[in-house]
Amino acid sequence: MAITAEIITIGDEILYGQTLDTNSHWISSALDAINIKVFQKTTIGDTRDHILTAFREAENRANIILITGGLGPTKDDLTKPLLAEYFGVPLRLNEEALEEITSLFARAGRTMTDPNRKQAELPEGCLKITNRMGTAPGMWMERDNRVFISMPGVPYEMKNMMQEVLLPKLAARFGQGAIFHKIVRTVGVPESHLASLISDWEDQLPAHLKLAYLPSMGQVKLRLTGYGDNEQVLKQEVHEAIKQVLPVIKKHIYGYDEDELESVIGQWLKQQNKTLGTAESCTGGHLAGMITSVPGSSAYYKGTIVSYDNEVKESLLDVPAEMIEKHGAVSEEVVKTMAENVRKKLKVDVGLATSGIAGPDGGTVEKPVGTIWIAYADDKKTIAKKLNFTKDRKLNIQFSALAALNLFRLNFLSN
Ligand code: AMP
Ligand code: MG
Repeated sequence: MAITAEIITIGDEILYGQTLDTNSHWISSALDAINIKVFQKTTIGDTRDHILTAFREAENRANIILITGGLGPTKDDLTKPLLAEYFGVPLRLNEEALEEITSLFARAGRTMTDPNRKQAELPEGCLKITNRMGTAPGMWMERDNRVFISMPGVPYEMKNMMQEVLLPKLAARFGQGAIFHKIVRTVGVPESHLASLISDWEDQLPAHLKLAYLPSMGQVKLRLTGYGDNEQVLKQEVHEAIKQVLPVIKKHIYGYDEDELESVIGQWLKQQNKTLGTAESCTGGHLAGMITSVPGSSAYYKGTIVSYDNEVKESLLDVPAEMIEKHGAVSEEVVKTMAENVRKKLKVDVGLATSGIAGPDGGTVEKPVGTIWIAYADDKKTIAKKLNFTKDRKLNIQFSALAALNLFRLNFLSN
């Protein structure tokens, strides 16, 4: 019989539209990756009767019921006492959980409160799932081969529990056969174009190798999963299949599995002992934010000049006023000058620059909202690129920063 899973997300904030339910989205794809099928997702508020009804209904349908939310120390968080009630067991202090919570508070230099102490009480007979990122332990409870898993609502706490403990445990208990995944990460190529590039290859994949397109902003991840009996054999088959497709899409690939574009770039700079600086207009520091999100980026990144105003482009980046007057701040000439001059100003090997119309105002017929220029400059060349993005300001900013990193990727190694 096929193993089925359901997800229950609990919290008034999700129903009221204050919090987007990203948890069930993440859990679904994590379960899909270990071949456990999710058949239903339910969102309920912090209401006793609805929560108990949802437990009952889910137990009638599914083998695995994953719950997030309602584990905070406050009175509106009901999941734990209701799970105990549902299983007909009392809450008991769990010494190990108390120790974990106490040491978490000690490490953070904070004083523990009574409600926090109560978080160490767990339903009798439940298996405690350690929470490395927060105070509420997770719970694994089962009867009649039905498993209830309760996790905190805070996304990073939930993900840590899933990755470190629950996914391996679920795969070992319910996963059918062996499974192997490899993710190929691409940037700057639309999903439809990528799909047409690899369609012949995709068509000839054997039935037990499945390809998934996982698009996100400006990027598409290709996940190839092998299902079978022997993990070693699958691993070889998946790698072999990927090797065949590489020549077709090589120029769009920046990494594999957990690689991020900004960290891959950082590795390259470090390996070549080169430094990077940025001059940002429309991205307003977002590019710097992405680059410095990588631990150790101080080894190769010197900083950014946020030259949002034309006066700052002139005074801090020596962009000639006449050039701005003649071509406009959003132009090939200006963005190239920004990239070239930030190299000199910050004394770096490579300069990256952005200048565009993020919107919603400021567009013209000639340069509508979403018109973005980006540039790359090193000691040998300056390359600029014009892009046409969306009408949405936030998206334009994010796309532009990503595109600038991609421009770096396409030019840095070709020297
Ligand atoms: P709780 O475990 O109910 O105390 O949830 C703590 C916090 O996690 C909430 O305030 C939300 O910000 C967040 N959260 C809860 N449920 C979800 C969810 N399904 N998706 C994303 N964030 C959530
Ligand atoms: Mg809550």
